[in-house]
Amino acid sequence: MALIVHKYGGTSMGSTERIRNVAKRVAKWHRAGHQMVVVPSAMSGETNRLLGLAKELAPAAHTTAYARELDMIASTGEQVSVGLLAIALQAEGIDAISYTGWQVPVRTDSAYTKARIESIDDTRVRADLDAGKVVIITGFQGIDAQGHITTLGRGGSDTSAVAIAAAMKAAECLIYTDVDGVYTTDPRIVPEARRLHTISFEEMLEMASLGSKVLQIRSVEFAGKYRVPLRVLSSFTPWDIPLDEEAKSGTLITFEEDENMEQAVVSGIAFNRDEAKITVMGVPDKPGIAYQILGAVADANIDVDVILQNVSHDGKTDFSFTVHRNDYAKTIDLLKEKVVPHLGANEVVGDTKICKVSIVGIGMRSHAGVASRMFRVLAEEGINIQMITTSEIKTSVVIDEKYMELAVRALHKAFDLDQDAA
Ligand code: ADP
Ligand code: ASP
Ligand code: MG
Repeated sequence: MALIVHKYGGTSMGSTERIRNVAKRVAKWHRAGHQMVVVPSAMSGETNRLLGLAKELAPAAHTTAYARELDMIASTGEQVSVGLLAIALQAEGIDAISYTGWQVPVRTDSAYTKARIESIDDTRVRADLDAGKVVIITGFQGIDAQGHITTLGRGGSDTSAVAIAAAMKAAECLIYTDVDGVYTTDPRIVPEARRLHTISFEEMLEMASLGSKVLQIRSVEFAGKYRVPLRVLSSFTPWDIPLDEEAKSGTLITFEEDENMEQAVVSGIAFNRDEAKITVMGVPDKPGIAYQILGAVADANIDVDVILQNVSHDGKTDFSFTVHRNDYAKTIDLLKEKVVPHLGANEVVGDTKICKVSIVGIGMRSHAGVASRMFRVLAEEGINIQMITTSEIKTSVVIDEKYMELAVRALHKAFDLDQDAA
């Protein structure tokens, strides 16, 4: 008997029929003697619907007060889910109880729409588990020190589940979703993508941070920090498959590099369409420039990703970087108003039609020439590289958005990730 956390994503909770299936699956685990905590997302499309309503009525300035209300609104999607799942379990004859984030409580900071979990008090949940109940807790939401409802950013239910598993020292956290594990790349883009039986924590962290939305990055960070055994698996298998078989299915995130691991040079390909590129042109090439530009951006709480500065020919250079598309307009305005006039730069230009494609693999540590192979593949497809960034286990390029699928497919094949190559 162990304490197990299950997380079910939006598609898995997408209809009453699917919720009934989730209930039957959870009941199976409960009847096998496990203590069960379940963390569901809002029903698919619901968070978008709720945020869409808010957007229709939004004020011109996106203030903190506005962000607070977005969380108030978006958090209701998960509240409906937990209640529905609890009654579906009750219909299965299981004693089940649901809680919102604030009832647990799941405490977060006050960064509305992207709050971070600070602590979780598991007293109440543990008492219910000890009384034989299945406990269902909303994903995605928490409460800050002043009692305001917060949400954890899109895809945040993954993080709720892993954080609860960490706080309660669960034996395992199982992330049930609409694919049967972590693939070499998004199987919706590359049908030849292959499911990985295991993926190292470091690779998963890179894949998530570089755009693979199968796990929210913060959930992987939590799993790493607290060593939470984490598995991604399908919620679409028949609910009554043997528990042992289900428990071994999907993809396990591993923390130790063992010999049995699939040791490809490149393990996966990630892509991200959510960024935009900004270039400050004609910047004087002298000390302190990067700080003046990016310092102002950081002060406005805008995260910068890829950065590129070139050498100058005539004392002036161009300085480019990428930000999230949501921050694009704000960044351009900020630079035009506050930075360019003081710098003596010429102008600020931007491009929202870019994407970032990355190859990831711990095998890259011990193999030279992986990046150049990537560049060759892109050159052969006639794809121009606008920016490059590398780390020990990944290489990313920024390219024109219209070549994204072509680039991902070509790289997937070139690095022997296609199914038939395995
Ligand atoms: P959920 O609602 O269950 O949280 P998400 O839509 O957030 O599901 O995440 C699952 C989706 O992630 C899949 O449907 C798939 O399209 C996408 N995805 C992106 N990259 C990968 C990958 N490398 N492996 C598996 N799925 C991926
Ligand atoms: N419902 C939230 C979203 O759509 C959280 C989640 O699904 O993980 O982003
Ligand atoms: Mg998700």
